[in-house]
Amino acid sequence: MCDCLSQENPLSIDASASRTPKGVSRAGIRSLLRALMKTNPLLRIALPALLILPFLSSCSNHIAAYNDLLVGEPSVETSEPQRGDVHITYLGTNGYLFRSHDSTIAVDPYFSRIPIRPIALNAPISPSPQRIDYATTQAAFPKRVDAWLITHSHFDHLFDAPALQPKFGGKIVSSHTGRFLAQAQGVPLRNLRPSEPGRVYHFGGAKVSVLEAKHDTIFGMTPYPGKITEPMSSSPNRPKDWLLGTPLAYLIEMEGKRIYVESGGVPGFLPPVKNVDLAIIGTAVPDSQSRFPGAVRKLNPRYVLPSHQDNFFLPLENGFQFSTLSNLPQIKARHKAEQLPGELILMDYFHTWKLR
Ligand SMILES: [Zn+2]
Repeated sequence: MCDCLSQENPLSIDASASRTPKGVSRAGIRSLLRALMKTNPLLRIALPALLILPFLSSCSNHIAAYNDLLVGEPSVETSEPQRGDVHITYLGTNGYLFRSHDSTIAVDPYFSRIPIRPIALNAPISPSPQRIDYATTQAAFPKRVDAWLITHSHFDHLFDAPALQPKFGGKIVSSHTGRFLAQAQGVPLRNLRPSEPGRVYHFGGAKVSVLEAKHDTIFGMTPYPGKITEPMSSSPNRPKDWLLGTPLAYLIEMEGKRIYVESGGVPGFLPPVKNVDLAIIGTAVPDSQSRFPGAVRKLNPRYVLPSHQDNFFLPLENGFQFSTLSNLPQIKARHKAEQLPGELILMDYFHTWKLR
């Protein structure tokens, strides 16, 4: 068995502590990085990419080792949703498809899975039509999607939505930064819903509430921070063009079920809703992992699904591999030891689970 499964990730730290396991203060790392950036313009460009390098997987680390948590069946073998059903399909990274008999809502679809090299070099990138076709076929996408909910505008969340929207229709719900990025890629304003927390939308029989959220930090820093506040003069084409924008979470109410979905967060900021049927909680990095117990207690879900744990630099065809900074063994142990509410579940790529 791979070591990643048998040991807790040594890089994982409790973000409530101010020191890494090696005794180096996080504030110290942050000020060192800032000083280096000041003296080295090359590092100023490369640092955002360096902050996402830990998402690489360090060894083969497959999801099948967690058979006891896995739910769902291959999407291509799943029948159409009947009245009263909610079908949930995992699309990789933080991507999901929620379907009922009268509405289809996608969250953070990212299928192009740009490799690490162009990301690290901030080289030109563009969506892959082949990978989008592969993913939408494997996920058994319906002909029409009503809405694309984007939690924030980084490339691993927003990147493919402007290519998917013309194929499947629907509205892209995002921050204002996401709206300007999508508009610059040709999505007309009538198909965009620039949003802030407090907005409520109805798509078919589903109700979507836009909620406040925070983005994880790595060593106290956020990759690609910033907002876009006016129309872009050219189409975004390099990773650092996809600025964070305002992070958002969503409450999807569908067929009488309440589903909370986010992409992560920071300790000290808990989800603004409670009592849900399913909580999808981002756990990509130590920051969000350390807030997991508090978030689960607040949400009080029937089911809880840790999300954004895979190595999103690899193609979806390769199958699910955990990223270096993910730490499902620790999440599983804390869920049990702290007797957190809800059944802990996990989903594999292109599997569909019926929430009942
Ligand atoms: Zn992000």
